[in-house]
Amino acid sequence: MARGDGRLNHDILPGESGPQDACGVFGVWAPGEEVGKLAYYGLYALQHRGQESAGIATSDGSRMLVYKDMGLVSQVFDETSLGSLTGHLAIGHTRYSTTGASRWENAQPTLGGTEHHTIALAHNGNLINTEELREVLASRHVDGFGDAGGEMRRGNTTDTAIVTSLLGSRGEDVSLEEAALADLPLIKGAYCFVFMDEQTLYAARDPQGVRPLVIGRLERGWVVASETAALDIVGASFVREVEPGELVVIDESGLRAQSFAEPVRKGCVFEYVYLARPDTTIAGRGVHAARVEMGRRLAQEHPVEADMVMPSPESGTPAAIGYAEQSGIAYGQGLVKNAYVGRTFIAPSQTIRQLGIRLKLNPLREVIKGQRLVVVDDSIVRGNTQRALVRMLREAGAAEVHVRISSPPVRWPCFYGIDFASRAELIATGLDVEAVRQAIGADSLGYISEEGMVGATEQPRDRLCTACFSGEYPLGVPRDQEKVLGTPHEADTPRGATV
Ligand code: SF4
Repeated sequence: MARGDGRLNHDILPGESGPQDACGVFGVWAPGEEVGKLAYYGLYALQHRGQESAGIATSDGSRMLVYKDMGLVSQVFDETSLGSLTGHLAIGHTRYSTTGASRWENAQPTLGGTEHHTIALAHNGNLINTEELREVLASRHVDGFGDAGGEMRRGNTTDTAIVTSLLGSRGEDVSLEEAALADLPLIKGAYCFVFMDEQTLYAARDPQGVRPLVIGRLERGWVVASETAALDIVGASFVREVEPGELVVIDESGLRAQSFAEPVRKGCVFEYVYLARPDTTIAGRGVHAARVEMGRRLAQEHPVEADMVMPSPESGTPAAIGYAEQSGIAYGQGLVKNAYVGRTFIAPSQTIRQLGIRLKLNPLREVIKGQRLVVVDDSIVRGNTQRALVRMLREAGAAEVHVRISSPPVRWPCFYGIDFASRAELIATGLDVEAVRQAIGADSLGYISEEGMVGATEQPRDRLCTACFSGEYPLGVPRDQEKVLGTPHEADTPRGATV
């Protein structure tokens, strides 16, 4: 499908989905502004982080409204629904499901609260101690989850509903701010929460800062968002990141922040490789620049004699630019994508499915014919997309096809908010580089080293999570996933405490 910023992701083969981000979150506190519409445009900028459902909650200080549905932001909202979302604060969410099925009950923002205030909450990430949190909830409400468990009782099966219930389960005399400061330290995993009651906007980030979350300033208010690109789109200026382990509170007295846990930074390296928009900046490093640098380092590590460097459309583009710059080989476009490719509700029949990659890409035969090509992509998950791409280029007359990948082999699942294929489906789990090369039919294959990828982010190695490449899980592994992980080889044993 097309990503929110127009780039194709790995899903250029029908039925073949690429790495999916767990969600985008957005919040705005701005009296006098159309907060519902600001949230809409903020979510529009974050569409690439989740395409299954979208939702916005607004409040005018005394009454909260929520509108959410399955589909893309542009499908869920129209002028009428946005017109009813009035108030001076809002939160919004675009969802891709990591826990809980993709259905309406699990769409966000989720609702909860006490007799004194309502809570609406949006989450980007994935928790790894939900069983413990359920036990905490049960201990606070002996006869079930009580009023605070509203969405859970109605069938919401997400970790987000558990947190929403948790924040409302300390009783009506406890403010949301007090509840958050007390309960956030109990929550383990990767999370960025943007939440609100009738008067106040809150944002919180896990102590490892795995997923990005930033604060922006409007002339008459404040914005929080998963990526800086969403600040740009609503005209907010970047102020700073929400610090790992920090709770930010925004109301008529302005913005105040409190730390609820010692920060131990472990930002997701895959945000730099593929997930975030190229026009986003994470921890001071521009994502586009990081990807170009990955391409340069890839060229140094895996040079090859060739006539043209081209990207795998289109997420491989910045790394292909870097590869071409470093190698001196001309950069070119060998494929044209269907400009209006996107999510369709028309399920392809078997006959159409067999057209595969051709539904979305068409080769430029006169550019490709007789050429030795370097095709640069950001990652290989199952390998089916690259196999189809290589075959298409050969059929179009390419003399040689050399594949270069701007991340190391993906060999481990992510428990912190990104949905790759299952471990058994990851092509690099069972095969070495030569076997993957043969499987995709390339003349040569080169992956950037972990050092090269990390170096391009300009972040210290010990401040990044690289678990899907290294098997080192800095936040630990959920208890019920130990068996799923399996340990086919000694060297493959994942490292990280079980939570
Ligand atoms: S496992 Fe990979 S995708 Fe998941 S947080 Fe770590 S680096 Fe990011």
